[in-house]
Amino acid sequence: MKYHIWTEGCQMNVADSQRVGSALEHLGYSLTPAAEEADVIVLNTCVVRQSAEDKAAGRLTSFQPLKKKNPKLVINLMGCMVGVRGAEKLKKRFPFVDVFSPPSDPGPLISFLTQGEVRSLEDAETTRRFLAMDDELILPVHERGSLISAHVPVVYGCSHACTYCIIPYRRGIERSRPVGDIVAEVRSLAAQGVKEITLLGQIVDRYGKDIADGPTLAGLLRLIHEVEGIQRIRFLTSHPNYFGEDLLEAIAELPKVMPHIEVPIQAGDDSVLETMRRGYTQADYYRLVEKIRAKIPGCSIATDIIVGFPGETDEQFMQTYKTLSDLRLDVAHLARYSPREGTVSARRMPDDVSAEEKMRRFRLLEELQENIVAEINAHYLGETVQVLFEEKVKNRWKGRTPTNKLVFVESEADLRGKLQAVHITWTGPWSMQATLVQQPLVLAG
Ligand code: SAH
Repeated sequence: MKYHIWTEGCQMNVADSQRVGSALEHLGYSLTPAAEEADVIVLNTCVVRQSAEDKAAGRLTSFQPLKKKNPKLVINLMGCMVGVRGAEKLKKRFPFVDVFSPPSDPGPLISFLTQGEVRSLEDAETTRRFLAMDDELILPVHERGSLISAHVPVVYGCSHACTYCIIPYRRGIERSRPVGDIVAEVRSLAAQGVKEITLLGQIVDRYGKDIADGPTLAGLLRLIHEVEGIQRIRFLTSHPNYFGEDLLEAIAELPKVMPHIEVPIQAGDDSVLETMRRGYTQADYYRLVEKIRAKIPGCSIATDIIVGFPGETDEQFMQTYKTLSDLRLDVAHLARYSPREGTVSARRMPDDVSAEEKMRRFRLLEELQENIVAEINAHYLGETVQVLFEEKVKNRWKGRTPTNKLVFVESEADLRGKLQAVHITWTGPWSMQATLVQQPLVLAG
């Protein structure tokens, strides 16, 4: 029995797919990269922008002939295309789909496969029982011995309601996972040889705020820091308003917590930020960046930006441009505004920046950012940095610096999962090349 998974979207979806894979492997399925060979196909979808939704729908439709050929094939549509509010419309649109699963929930698929008669997420009770009883089952184990870096969800859903964003509607309200579950999962991953953990949440720095007497994210980092075998800890995505002193202190103090922070600004203009309902100003964000840099020297910072939000004038856009050129951040994930059905901005604000203008703004930022990051990375030339190696791509080993920069090294040695000092010999905007400072010790016999 074989399963095939197609995953689109954020890191949370990557983590969700790992869990589904793990659950399926417990049921005796093995992974195949070829959809035509599979008995079960899982399509884990994203709808954050129209383009993502179109891609998911296209992919799903491409599986229809496989179902015709093999009626026993089980097709599972999962993730944000399904959402938490039921799948009636989707059932009509895609009648060949057997199971619909909300984000982060392998339950409906497992129920379907194990019980036969359960057909959808309406059977919440089975799902709940499965999840309560067998949490162990869904720990990601399917890449046993091969996973170096694993993602661990710590906050599900989101309650912030930025006016452009569909995520709260599709992933439901914010729910922090109990600290015991998270630590147990991290221990289990460490025991399987995982070296790096990335904690995930739509607003990860709100971790624990919905639990009466649990730790905050800073406290959680301190607990995970104690887990033997874990060498690096990362977390994303942060919201500027919740990035407190205690978190900064934890990052500064804990050597395993990497100096890399993903904290989106979305726009540089105050009135755009207000219409987006982000809850901070450009000046607040500048102060946060200053504080991060004062407390964690050399910290890399990544941001997200949306261009062409409804009503965004050229002048307002130039505030975003100015922000990026002033702050010189390490990464800017750029997006063109895409109205999402049901969100406040789609209902109340006309999508009045033309596609061409959105593209022009996008390209301006893209070019600016490429120059900035090329310059930042050039400072690494000749430096010695620690790299955690993950895999060999063609003949080069691929790994990351503490600041999350991609590094390639040519080496005959097996570097998988190794933390090695390297000497940076070449830098570009998107990656660097390096040589090992010392060949790793190869133990004979
Ligand atoms: N929870 C995170 C990430 C949300 S989704 C946060 O609060 O930032 C990832 C990114 O997609 C967002 O940061 C935003 O830049 C972008 N995005 C979200 N909704 C969008 C929309 N309607 N149109 C274009 N980009 C969008």
